[in-house]
Amino acid sequence: MGVDQPLGDNIITTSLDALVNWSRKSSIWPMTFGLACCAIEMMATGASSHDLDRFGIIFRASPRQADCIIIAGTVTKKMLPVIKTVYEQMPEPKWVVAMGACACSGGVFDTYSVVQGIDEALPVDVYIPGCPPRPEALLYGLIKLREKIMKEKNSFGNAIGLGERLEPAA
Ligand code: SF4
Repeated sequence: MGVDQPLGDNIITTSLDALVNWSRKSSIWPMTFGLACCAIEMMATGASSHDLDRFGIIFRASPRQADCIIIAGTVTKKMLPVIKTVYEQMPEPKWVVAMGACACSGGVFDTYSVVQGIDEALPVDVYIPGCPPRPEALLYGLIKLREKIMKEKNSFGNAIGLGERLEPAA
């Protein structure tokens, strides 16, 4: 194609970062993992009436295949080591969603046995308030996560082993 020839409608130009980010945000695979009542709302979100599949969001039964963990429910101190192990088994890049008041801040359980927010242990990307948040709220949170992934820098470099992913400022 000559340089003076117009590109036409069949060619798009983009950056490699945008391409990698687009592919990542279009295939978020959360762990099938729930802790308490919020998990019921998470299951409802995955059911046909809300249809997460249209966003490429498909729950996986293994942390080895997952790149997102939705902390759906009360985090007890007894359960925290298990959550950390599951998170560490997930490959990079990976994202954390804190779903509901309990996961965000301990909720009503200001007690000796409950972790006062999963961000004490994991790097949370999106917080979803509510007790419990409705499926629409989780859907909105996941859409926000998709927007956040699209803003990441050096995604391509990180994918080929050059440098760290740079996440957008909160
Ligand atoms: S935020 Fe409410 S609904 Fe969710 S796990 Fe805690 S008590 Fe249950």
